[in-house]
Amino acid sequence: MDLKDLYRDVILDHNKHPRNFGVLEGSDAHADGHNPLCGDRLTVSLRLTGDRISDIRFEGKGCAISTASASLMTEAVKGKDRAAVQALFERVHALLTDDAATADPALGKLAALSGVREFPARVKCASLCWHTLNAALESGDATVSTE
Ligand code: ZN
Repeated sequence: MDLKDLYRDVILDHNKHPRNFGVLEGSDAHADGHNPLCGDRLTVSLRLTGDRISDIRFEGKGCAISTASASLMTEAVKGKDRAAVQALFERVHALLTDDAATADPALGKLAALSGVREFPARVKCASLCWHTLNAALESGDATVSTE
């Protein structure tokens, strides 16, 4: 199995069985995200302990890339503080948009998203959850659109 097959399997698995999917009762912050280009909609809600994301859930309806990306993101950011989340987002953004970016080992399973950059129209599908998370962290209650 080559890396591309492995990455594809990670995306398919997280789309079929999204992790941390659902409503988080008593959340401290949430935001709604919309990607009109594709029709993806998702809501990210999280609980903060100090500066750290102690729990996070997402729900919504979108394409396989948007769902898998949100699922991978929730796994990756749980337990991290704001600065670490921001650093991770910058790595993911580079991975999605910069052909020269290599999959940083710090990305873990998020490296599976590297295949998305071959499909520029889908980059917004993969980054929607991150913009939504940022909006939740910044304002506590927000709506964002990729447009
Ligand atoms: Zn999409």
